[in-house]
Amino acid sequence: MNIGEKSVVTFHYTLTNSNGEELDSSAGRDSMKYLHGASNIVPGLEKEMEGKSSGDKLKVEVQPEEGYGEVNPQMIQKVPHSAFEGVPEIKPGMKFQAEGPGGETQHITVKEVTDDEVTVDGNHPLAGQVLHFDVTIEDVREASEEELSHGHAH
Ligand code: ZN
Repeated sequence: MNIGEKSVVTFHYTLTNSNGEELDSSAGRDSMKYLHGASNIVPGLEKEMEGKSSGDKLKVEVQPEEGYGEVNPQMIQKVPHSAFEGVPEIKPGMKFQAEGPGGETQHITVKEVTDDEVTVDGNHPLAGQVLHFDVTIEDVREASEEELSHGHAH
């Protein structure tokens, strides 16, 4: 069966950046599963999965606009230390979750800490990056009614 709307796809992947550094991989872990056509994975990868079938291997290069977006400078902000009340020590590289304006979960990374303020970055860690996916498709099946109504694979 070929991947199309309402397919549930199981695949293994390795994600590297343009410098060839591995960012993420499912090797040695459970494979990934997603519902095709439901925006469960980045658009640039989903597009290339279309029509493929079990056993296919593909290499996909995804530009930021079809990946995790460009870096939005407005998402990089300076906030007072008081914004981190209850956190004993703020250090660059620390990650927090916050609620965005629309109630969505935002991932925030601490970029810089000075005596006066903390610079935080709410961009996705992979924003602005060209993504290189190495994908092996393991299985393609039809989605169940329940999966379709939930908008994700089970
Ligand atoms: Zn569900």
